[in-house]
Amino acid sequence: MSKREIIPVAKGDGIGPEIMDAALHILLEGGAMIEPKFIELGEKVYLAGHTSGITAETWEIIRNNRLLYKAPITTPQGGGYKSLNVTIRKSLNLYANVRPVVSYSPVVPSKHPDMNVVIVRENEEDLYAGIEHQQTPEVVQCLKLISRPGCERVVRYAFEYARAYGRQKVTCMTKDNIMKLTDGLFHKVFDEIAAEYPDIENEHWIVDIGIALLADTPTNFDVVVIPNLYGDIASDVTAQVAGSIGLAPSANVGERYAMFEAIHGSAPDIAGKNIANPSGLLLSGINMLVYIGQNEVAEQVHNAWLKTIEDRVWTRDIVKKAAGQTGYTEVGTKEFAKAIVARLGQKPTLLKPVDYSQAVVSFKKPKLTNVRNDVMQLDGVDLFIANGVLSANELGKKLEQIAGPEFRLIMLSNRGQVVYPGGFPETFCTDHWRCRFQAAAGQDRPTHAAIRNLMVRVEQDGLEWIKLENLYLLNGQRAYTLGQGQ
Ligand code: NAD
Repeated sequence: MSKREIIPVAKGDGIGPEIMDAALHILLEGGAMIEPKFIELGEKVYLAGHTSGITAETWEIIRNNRLLYKAPITTPQGGGYKSLNVTIRKSLNLYANVRPVVSYSPVVPSKHPDMNVVIVRENEEDLYAGIEHQQTPEVVQCLKLISRPGCERVVRYAFEYARAYGRQKVTCMTKDNIMKLTDGLFHKVFDEIAAEYPDIENEHWIVDIGIALLADTPTNFDVVVIPNLYGDIASDVTAQVAGSIGLAPSANVGERYAMFEAIHGSAPDIAGKNIANPSGLLLSGINMLVYIGQNEVAEQVHNAWLKTIEDRVWTRDIVKKAAGQTGYTEVGTKEFAKAIVARLGQKPTLLKPVDYSQAVVSFKKPKLTNVRNDVMQLDGVDLFIANGVLSANELGKKLEQIAGPEFRLIMLSNRGQVVYPGGFPETFCTDHWRCRFQAAAGQDRPTHAAIRNLMVRVEQDGLEWIKLENLYLLNGQRAYTLGQGQ
């Protein structure tokens, strides 16, 4: 028998300790070769003055082991407390958030009885980089950052997951008809990597209709890989329509580390009453066992859990969901755990048993394309100017004077819409202007020095520049979008 794997375990807050005790009891009785090492995360740590919710000693323990099994925690109300989940994901490079969503009909009623979808959400980038700025009195911005390594890792993970778990299709969802560079990169990388997996079907949907279809006909989907923000929405929509949000597990997976937890919170309203359902956390623990190669135990425990709910041994939340049904036994958290242990070795007959015998996960070291030597050439500059006084025409005329001799003004846009030259007076303008300059006729490519000179001229003319974005050609191709209407 192999050595026990040491697992840092956080019992969390609220119902956390009860459901973690129950889940660990079941996993260990099922034969899991794991040794919990208890760590403190969350409310107590926050309130002791650590605004991140975690101490340096706890980081050390997590980083010395490759896993974290975590019960939900309570983030104290009020400012100054950072989301611990976001901190853990980013610090440990947990780039894929994996949420299998299954309906357990007819045991737990669901609008989609045959639903079985896995959402693989990119976990570190996109608008969740949290880079926001007030730019003018009227305008704030949030930067959406998408990187090629970020896309490659999560997309490859989705295909490897599909292969490991015997799934047939991977669907990508983006909004690349609008965000041609950021979402466009995610889609492009998806197409490149999909070509390496000819055994797995692939498709792409624009995210709005994609999520609508996911809610309407989830049985048409299998694995869905999706950027961070859309993925946050898609995974809750999916869990809700399955009817099993309280039962859903999740994994946050990276190259070296992985964190497993339920998707629900710490439920302070029912804490300490022995009525919480430990299923979401247990199923997360089962996924953790598959992740570390203890497939046999994972399968046995999962099937015992299915058999238990199929036998109508339910915690209160399931009883409520199955309103009107009869012939069930309502049990507490501890008794539910005992009922599962009593069914170890049994399989469900009404619900489909799981089979993890083929689930071999081999995505620890994804290879990444090195694009750092691609050629970036300066092609112009977008200078952003705060101006609540001049009209588009007045500002445009002024900047045409300032542009020379190195530059010519190509356009002004306001919230992305071109308003000079040739804009409509009807277009509403805020106090935030993007002013695009490119090399004047007869000039070579712009230089950084020329851009600095331009900024000095802008300042000397009494205008307030708020930021600049260089325009680049990437390997000779335009790598910036045109203004709306340009
Ligand atoms: P919640 O998920 O804790 O509770 C929502 C409702 O679902 C409550 O009525 C609760 O009683 C019920 N519920 C949740 N889990 C249950 C279970 N296992 N069994 C039976 N019923 C269950 O969401 P909330 O009330 O919005 O958040 C409470 C706290 O949890 C907040 O402090 C929040 O920040 C935190 N939270 C933590 C995590 C995490 O650690 N991953 C995730 C979400 C919320």
